[in-house]
Amino acid sequence: MEAILSAYRERLSRLRDNSNPYSAGIAWVAGEIVPLLEAKIPLIDQGFMHSDLTYDVVSVWDGRFFRLDDHIDRLEASCSRIRLRIPLEKNKLKGILVDMARQSRIPDACVQIVVTRGLKGVRANKLEHLTNLLYILLVPYVWLMEPEAQYHGGRAVVAKTVQRVPPGAMDPTVKNLQWGDFTRGMFEASDRGAEYAFLTDGNQNLTEGPGFNIHLVKDGIIHTPDRGCLHGITRDAVFEIAKANGIEAQAEAVPVEMAYRCDEIFTSTTAGGILPITALDGQPVHEGKVGPITRIIRDAYWTMHRDPVHSLDVFGVESHG
Ligand code: PLP
Repeated sequence: MEAILSAYRERLSRLRDNSNPYSAGIAWVAGEIVPLLEAKIPLIDQGFMHSDLTYDVVSVWDGRFFRLDDHIDRLEASCSRIRLRIPLEKNKLKGILVDMARQSRIPDACVQIVVTRGLKGVRANKLEHLTNLLYILLVPYVWLMEPEAQYHGGRAVVAKTVQRVPPGAMDPTVKNLQWGDFTRGMFEASDRGAEYAFLTDGNQNLTEGPGFNIHLVKDGIIHTPDRGCLHGITRDAVFEIAKANGIEAQAEAVPVEMAYRCDEIFTSTTAGGILPITALDGQPVHEGKVGPITRIIRDAYWTMHRDPVHSLDVFGVESHG
């Protein structure tokens, strides 16, 4: 992990010395590439008016997109569940993403791809008369837990003041920006001296947190909620790594009380990877230290970023854009 992070810090300091106008971020709006802060959306876009949208976030790490096809496939699936359509073919979209990464020359990035309903809403309009819109923004890599904090891990609480919106109201497998419940959870976490909120389903089970999936390790087995949460691409990587290392990993209903008697806790997200949680509700987890299974998964996760099966070299491929 230290080698990964020190190489990252070097790339980051080179990026900071860079005078490229896109080095702070680049956006694609209506077919045009612009510096991030110059990007605009029409106020009447239903994505803004009613959060009528879906999105996905993929990372670029050391010049390589990580699991790009998986992210685009999930975006397509999200779109189809809420009757949206990505207004570009997959190869064209990939070409634009590669061009953006190349033009920005940001070696480590998070790339948000947003599909909105467009300028007309669903009320009084037929689906075939709606034109969905696409926005893409690429920014320097975002850490849900700062790299330095990853050595000792973060503090989480099980939120008491808010529960995750039920799947019957908002389908959590459709990545969405209706973060009202998460925002309340983050305020509660901060009020209780923690950084991360775990939301329950209101029925004694864990779901997920603001921007991450939750994993509990108990007696050598990884348990992660199978419902009420996004099917994270990082979580898929956790399953693959666990299997390759002979560690059992199960997606299932995960009762909240398991979090208080488990051996290790970590979260997973594109924005930071595998994040150890070493305190829950003010009590140490694994004596306040990063646990051995968390380390195995985390190290393998970063190694996976160089595997050509899972990554696409931004500077070594032909752009399709
Ligand atoms: N759950 C939520 C609500 C998220 O927003 C995210 C990612 O942003 C995740 C889970 C983790 O998903 P992934 O691993 O695909 O980034």
